[in-house]
Amino acid sequence: MKAPLQSKIFRIVAEQAALINVKSYVIGGYVRDFFLKRSCTDIDIVVEGNGMEVASAVGSILKARVTLFKKFGTAMMCYKGMEIEFVGARKESYRSDSRKPIVENGTLEDDQKRRDFTINAMALSLAREDYGTLTDPFNGMDDLKRKIIRTPLDPDTTFSDDPLRMLRAIRFAAQLDFSIESDSFASIVRNASRIHIVSQERITVELQKIMAAPKPSKGFILLEKSGLLSLLLPQIASLKGVETMEGRGHKENFSHTMEVLDNVASESDNIWLRWAALLHDVGKPSTKHFDKELGWTFHGHDFIGSKMIPGIFRKLRLPLGEEMRYVQKLVQLHLRPVALVNEVSDSGVRRLLFEAGEDLDDLMLLCRADITSKNPRTVRRHLENFEQVSKKMARVEEKDAIRNFQPPISGEMIMKTFGLPPCREVGLIKDYIKEAILDGKIGNNLEEARQLMLERARELGISEVNA
Ligand code: ATP
Ligand code: MG
Repeated sequence: MKAPLQSKIFRIVAEQAALINVKSYVIGGYVRDFFLKRSCTDIDIVVEGNGMEVASAVGSILKARVTLFKKFGTAMMCYKGMEIEFVGARKESYRSDSRKPIVENGTLEDDQKRRDFTINAMALSLAREDYGTLTDPFNGMDDLKRKIIRTPLDPDTTFSDDPLRMLRAIRFAAQLDFSIESDSFASIVRNASRIHIVSQERITVELQKIMAAPKPSKGFILLEKSGLLSLLLPQIASLKGVETMEGRGHKENFSHTMEVLDNVASESDNIWLRWAALLHDVGKPSTKHFDKELGWTFHGHDFIGSKMIPGIFRKLRLPLGEEMRYVQKLVQLHLRPVALVNEVSDSGVRRLLFEAGEDLDDLMLLCRADITSKNPRTVRRHLENFEQVSKKMARVEEKDAIRNFQPPISGEMIMKTFGLPPCREVGLIKDYIKEAILDGKIGNNLEEARQLMLERARELGISEVNA
C-alpha cells in the first residue's frame, strides 16, 4: 500500500536524507491519523542514521528553527504550525524500575518493535525508490480497519516496560472509539499495579485526553475494569456497587456518574464542566446511610464532595486556581436547582442566582444531565420539575438582574459616608444590605440600599459625617 505524501515538507526530508545517504520514514501517529482521515499537527520522522543531521539540513532549506536534543539524539522543528520530530531508528531495552530505556542505534524494524500499538507502528517510506510505501510488520492496517488496539509484541513486555502505555491504550480506545484486543486488555489487568512508576503529570495528560473524548465514559469504564481506576482515582472507583438493606438497594453510582458525564460531554467541550460531572457525586460513598423510613440517603454529599475536590486536584496535579474553584462550586451547588421546585418565594432562586453567578448556565447543564433513571416516568417527572425551575429562574433573573450581582453600596461608600476606617462594622452593614436584597426585602437599587444603610448604621450607633 502507498500513501500520496504530497506535502512539501516530506519532499524536502526525502531529498536531504538521500543526499546523506540514509533512509527516512514518517512513522507513528501521523501515519495512523492519515489513514483515519484525522487531522494531525505533529509528524514523527525516523531516520536509519543520524536524525539530528537530517533535521539540521531540512531546517536550513526551509529556514525553520531546529532544536537539537543531543543527549537523546533527537531534533525538533516547527514549520507552519506543524511540529516535526526527527529521531534516529533505535532499539530499546528496559530495567524493571524505570520507564527510561537503555537505547542503542537500530533499524526501522527495531524502531517499530519499540512502539506501543500496531496502529502506531506503521511507517511510510520517504526514499525515492519506494516513496510513500507502507511498512507495516504487525498488520496495523488490519487493526485500524477493525478498530482494534493491540500491542506489537507480547503485551506483558510492552506494558511492563512502559506502563504509561496501558493508559495510552485506554485513551486511544476512548478517543478513536476502538476496542482493546482481549490479550492486550488481560495484560493491562495483570500489569495495572506497575502504573506507580509513571509520573503523575504523564498520567494526568492521558486522563485529560480521555476526558476530552467524544464519550469519556468509554475510557473511565475501561479504567475501572482494568483495576487502574482504583489506583488513580479511588474516590471514583468506590462509587461502584450497590448495597442492599431490608431488600432495598440504592442507585449504582458509578454507572450513573458515567451517564451524567456523557450527557454533559454531548452538550459541552468544557473540560472542567466534564470534570465537575465526573466528580459531582464523589461525596456519596462517605455519606451513605440507610434509614428505616427514608431508605438510602446521601445527605450532604454535595458539601462533602466539594470539600474533597482540592485533595483530588492536588493529587492529580490539576490546576488549583480558578478551574478547581469552578469544579468545587458546581459540585457544591449541583442539587440546588432541583431543590427549588417546592420553593414558593423568589428568595431561594435569587440566592442561587447570586451564588452561581456567571456559572449558572453550566450549573443548569450539569443539573439537567444529572437526571438519569431506568424508569422513563421518573425521568419525565424530574425533567418537568427542572423545566419549571428554569422558568422560575428566568423570571427572577429578568426582574432582579441578580446573576452578576454587585451590591449597590460598596465598602468604600460606607466608609466615606460614616467617616470610618476599614473595620468590622463596614462589613456588617455591607452584608446586611446584600442579604436584604437577596431576601427581596428591598429592591436591587441604590436608593433603597442607601436608605437601609442609614437605618442599619443608626442601629449600630454610627452616625453620618456632616449629617
Ligand atoms: P497523540 O499525538 O494524539 O498523543 P500519538 O500516537 O501521535 O498520539 P505521540 O506521543 O505523539 O502519540 O507519539 C508519537 C508516536 O510515538 C506514537 O504513535 C508511537 O508510535 C510512539 N510512542 C509514543 N509514546 C510511546 C510509548 N510510551 N511507548 C511506545 N511508543 C510510543
Ligand atoms: Mg502525535
